[in-house]
Amino acid sequence: MNTYKIAVLAGDGIGPEVMEQALRVLDAAEAKFGFKTERTSCFVGGAGIDNCGKALPDDTLAACEAADAILFGSVGGPKWDTLPPAERPERGALLPLRKHFQLYANLRPGICLAELTDASPVKNSLIPGGFDILCVRELTGGMYFGEPKFYGERDGEIVALDTLFYKRSEVERIAHVAFKAAQGRNKKLCSVDKANVLTSSVMWREVMNEIAPQYPDVELTHMYVDNAAMQLVRNPKQFDVMVTENTFGDILTDEMAIICGSLGMLPSASLGKGKDGAFFGLYEPSGGSAPDIAGKGIANPIAQILSMGMMLRYTCGETAAADAIDAAVRKVIAAGYRTGDLATGAAGEIRVGTAGMGDAVIAAL
Ligand code: NAD
Repeated sequence: MNTYKIAVLAGDGIGPEVMEQALRVLDAAEAKFGFKTERTSCFVGGAGIDNCGKALPDDTLAACEAADAILFGSVGGPKWDTLPPAERPERGALLPLRKHFQLYANLRPGICLAELTDASPVKNSLIPGGFDILCVRELTGGMYFGEPKFYGERDGEIVALDTLFYKRSEVERIAHVAFKAAQGRNKKLCSVDKANVLTSSVMWREVMNEIAPQYPDVELTHMYVDNAAMQLVRNPKQFDVMVTENTFGDILTDEMAIICGSLGMLPSASLGKGKDGAFFGLYEPSGGSAPDIAGKGIANPIAQILSMGMMLRYTCGETAAADAIDAAVRKVIAAGYRTGDLATGAAGEIRVGTAGMGDAVIAAL
């Protein structure tokens, strides 16, 4: 029987509540599809600071190193907001994990199910039947990491400098991730850049065009980032897979999240090199620790459940189980189950809390 080692980092706020449901769904998937996971639970974020003195404790990092994948909840909250920025849960845990494991590809699905179009701020008439986009964001290069950085005085004036730097190899590896993802979907890839202004984007576009012939079944198009930001709210249904550099992706994926309706529905995967050609990955909901609803048993666990599904797909290669989890979530939404973030008060809605949604997904699976 295939066995996978998973480091479970539930974190703060709603993290532990939604993680509990994701792990129950994982138990059910293991029983149904005949594989096993060995799980090690570790402190991270505020829980790491409180229990071990830092956001990413040494034992936690060691458990992640020994694992095939990290299933991450969320970190942060008002309790730790007064700490120096570098020690706070998000900066102190997530950025070091991304760096340590070279998680260069961030996959963010933007799915608005047909039944949830009312929750999207985009007019219903523009998104009949909902939409399903996958954004592939480069995560370890570009302006956030480029050197030199400078803030100080030059020629009698205060100046600030960031550097937008990409190596060709970094663009090539993200291109392959995006083309492969498109092959597994509707075979349309839109590369987003600013090649009319930025030199790094000129190289980005050249690399995309050069790699395209290796994926003849995928239709590659290009779009400037300012246009992409407009097109996402004007006609999101035109997109299948988008690929873009770090900063553009940061902004576009947040825009994509909001047009989907609720953060509680959106998973994400940050991928790097794993064993035997598989991806090592950190899988987490797109939202944060939601301190406003933490501890009340009302958070939507679907983003965490779908993140676990992405882990089965990209790290474990358990495609049938991942497909079944996606299908179970669609079925539960179609049947009318709604946590508070999704509820509109429409007839036929079945209001549930965090555990109730977990129960419904398990029953559907
Ligand atoms: P947030 O995503 O936690 O919450 C924004 C809104 O969405 C809130 O109203 C919240 O209740 C709602 N929401 C989010 N997830 C939900 C779910 N599963 N079910 C129902 N509603 C949900 O963003 P924020 O309020 O800006 O940040 C709160 C804390 O989370 C901060 O400390 C921030 O630093 C941290 N944060 C962590 C991560 C992470 O761990 N990756 C990401 C973003 C923010």
